[in-house]
Amino acid sequence: MIDIYKYDDNNVFAKILRNQIPCKKVYEDKICLAFEDINPKAPVHVLVIPKIKACSFNDFIDKSDENSIALFFKSIRKITKLLNLEKGYRLICNVGNDGGQEVPHLHFHILGKKRLSGLIP
Ligand code: 5GP
Repeated sequence: MIDIYKYDDNNVFAKILRNQIPCKKVYEDKICLAFEDINPKAPVHVLVIPKIKACSFNDFIDKSDENSIALFFKSIRKITKLLNLEKGYRLICNVGNDGGQEVPHLHFHILGKKRLSGLIP
């Protein structure tokens, strides 16, 4: 059972943020880090994570002020431009057990460069 409210400092994305585990970095700013998914489901599959300790989308929204939330989404938009996803893309954020979240640090998946099929694979 994933805990989406109590932050686990040993989760894999926390280790990536601390440079304890390598990643293929795509973009970084003061708000977020973006890197390639280790098990890509599309030709472009990038994960975007905030630098603050947020277990989930719920936790991030609940503990952040409006400016920080806006800056995080602005960064995601910047990354989609960097990735040249001119034909479109899919943004996914899995939340908690029922949402299929495996890593308890908020992340948005950006998938693209492929015509994606139905909403739920
Ligand atoms: P979730 O199911 O939590 O939304 O997605 C977690 C994602 O993290 C999966 O797509 C998985 O492939 C990716 N992932 C898990 N461990 C690592 C890792 O160590 N490095 C990278 N780059 N991606 C990871």
